[in-house]
Amino acid sequence: MSSTDKYTVETITDVRPWTDSLFSFRTTRDRGYRFVPGQFARLGVKGAAEGSIVWRAYSIASAAHDEHLEFFSVVVPNGQFTSRLSKLREGDEIYVERKSYGFLTTDRFQAGKDLWMLATGTGLAPFLSILHDFATWEHYDNLLLVQSVRTQQELAYEDLIRGFEGSEYYGEFAHKLRYARIVTREPVPGTLRDRVTKLLSNGVLEENLGVKLDHDRSRIMLCGNPEMVEDSRKILTERGYRMSRRGDPGHLAVENYW
Ligand code: NAP
Repeated sequence: MSSTDKYTVETITDVRPWTDSLFSFRTTRDRGYRFVPGQFARLGVKGAAEGSIVWRAYSIASAAHDEHLEFFSVVVPNGQFTSRLSKLREGDEIYVERKSYGFLTTDRFQAGKDLWMLATGTGLAPFLSILHDFATWEHYDNLLLVQSVRTQQELAYEDLIRGFEGSEYYGEFAHKLRYARIVTREPVPGTLRDRVTKLLSNGVLEENLGVKLDHDRSRIMLCGNPEMVEDSRKILTERGYRMSRRGDPGHLAVENYW
């Protein structure tokens, strides 16, 4: 197939498995493709019927300045899209809609000094892109990244996250990043064990990260499991944090993953 007004044909350049059901992949990027860190792309793979394409939304994990696009995916059992996607290899074609989407972007907020990024599973992806945006490090005093997974093996990108410290570009700001890992289904030293919702309610997350939630300072992004997003949103709304709306900046921005 060839590029159309709606999408471009790209090539998979790298596939990185993390576990049996979790993997990242890179694609070429059309020179005209633009996105704001935190947004998602719509990706297409060939469907079962001749000439058909199946489309899904995927948050972009790579930086806005990268020449490639990177995505982070789970294999959904019997999923039409991910079962095909997980079979793709380097050199295979993938379709990328020309338009980027979504509102999990820091431009939803005004002011604010602490950026909280709470992710479950592959919901980490948009935060990786946001963390590669230099403006984020310049604007905020504290960047609080929370990654909740079921098993230690699922703690993908830990090396990349730890690598901001000592990096040539981000190193001078790296002290601003605080990173909490939550592993809910097995004991792992140095990580938290309870669900992020419980840790938010009982104040342990704030204690662990050494930063208090605060209406003036905190801007909070939630991404991943829809129940986590909904439950966390409720907890925070009850504490007086407001959703950001178009033209009406608040404290919260969210993205559901399925
Ligand atoms: P997950 O079940 O979302 O769990 C990831 C982390 O989130 C775990 O630490 C989990 O804790 C926690 N969590 C789950 N529900 C929560 C809630 N209500 N409040 C607070 N924390 C919560 O795992 P996943 O590996 O990212 O995804 C699991 C399955 O979801 C996949 O196998 C796939 O079938 C499906 N999925 C579908 C899509 C799609 O596009 N259709 C995309 C992503 C995932 P616990 O261990 O306590 O549950």
